[in-house]
Amino acid sequence: MDFISHRVNSLAASATLAMSQKSSELRAQGVDVINLSVGEPDFPTPAHIKTAAVKAIDDNFTFYSPVPGYMSLREAIARKLSRENGLTFAPAQIVVSTGAKQALCNVILSTVNPGDEVIIPTPAWVSYVEMVKLAEGVTVEVPAHIDTDFKITPAQLEAAITPRTRMVLLCSPSNPTGSVYSRDELQRLVDVLARHPEIIIMADEIYEHINYTGSFTSLGSFPEIADRTVIINGVSKAYAMTGWRIGYCAAPLAIAKACTKLQGQYTSGTSSIAQKAAEAAYDGPQDCVAEMCAAFRRRRDLVVELARQIPGFKVNEPRGAFYLFPEVSGVLGKRFGDRVIATSGDLAMYLLEEAHVATVDGAAFCAPGYIRFSYATSDDNLREAMRRIACAVGKLK
Ligand code: PMP
Ligand code: GLU
Repeated sequence: MDFISHRVNSLAASATLAMSQKSSELRAQGVDVINLSVGEPDFPTPAHIKTAAVKAIDDNFTFYSPVPGYMSLREAIARKLSRENGLTFAPAQIVVSTGAKQALCNVILSTVNPGDEVIIPTPAWVSYVEMVKLAEGVTVEVPAHIDTDFKITPAQLEAAITPRTRMVLLCSPSNPTGSVYSRDELQRLVDVLARHPEIIIMADEIYEHINYTGSFTSLGSFPEIADRTVIINGVSKAYAMTGWRIGYCAAPLAIAKACTKLQGQYTSGTSSIAQKAAEAAYDGPQDCVAEMCAAFRRRRDLVVELARQIPGFKVNEPRGAFYLFPEVSGVLGKRFGDRVIATSGDLAMYLLEEAHVATVDGAAFCAPGYIRFSYATSDDNLREAMRRIACAVGKLK
């Protein structure tokens, strides 16, 4: 008897979370695994943010919060969008959710009808495709490769648009590739989108502050498309707050209202305590953000240098986020004894079992032939992980 719905049966489990779970299990068995699979800052949440959460408990912020989030938090987010991105959003256009993950899913479920097409440049974060599936939409992948720095061209975007296109989803800085679109590159994509006024643009800007290019352009800042652009962001990455589960969408009013209606039936307002902490993150001192970014940048330099020495790996230089996404086809087809490494998935499994380093198969990001590792961990861990990987890859014949 199958008790599970077709909807959930057809979903893939999150590969990032699954790999992380697998490495925790191995560690519980006493295996010394270095976990480079899940992507999250390894820093503790800054002290002033934690203090605000403790105060929120003492001040009895322990009741249901408004479904789209406290007004004070939505005002703080509106100030952030104005101060950092030059965008004007009223608090009524902002819906706070349980992480950017729920914010993304809210918007997709609120706008995509069965059969509608959603254009997703790939490699793309694991959950986008599955969220579109939940909405019974159709994903249209637009592939980019390491040779073009994983960026799609305006011509590719134009070619992917059909009368059924409902949404284009862009992520910059990108998970899993670390690529960052410049303002000029975005402008050229916007020129295409300006010719298609029926398309919703969703910009996942969660890695905004983990960016080594020195400049960040929000997709919300192009007047041609501003009235149909949804911004997704949150505190997980910039403020090392993954476990607090606070993200948001800033959207055209009708979409924000739809997300509120959906969320009201589904999860209600997210954690009251975490919301007060997020308010302190947005309104408090911002030095912690730059300090963490500087640490990630240093690690990026280290891991790129080490990964480039691994034979068979082709490595680009990521400009943001905290992932390396080497192309590994030079290793595929080789074997270790009886074990054939035919796919990037085989390689990720081999690295876990032989080198005790957890990575994620590029196929989970719609990009087989690559693997992803997160470098949001200590320099010592990174050095040891790269040493182990190089050694394991060196054993392949
Ligand atoms: N978008 C991207 C590209 C991500 O990498 C993540 C982190 N898993 C999220 C959204 C969701 O972040 P959160 O739910 O922790 O805010
Ligand atoms: N951003 C992280 C990752 O991609 C979090 C895990 C997840 O939510 O998928 O590894």
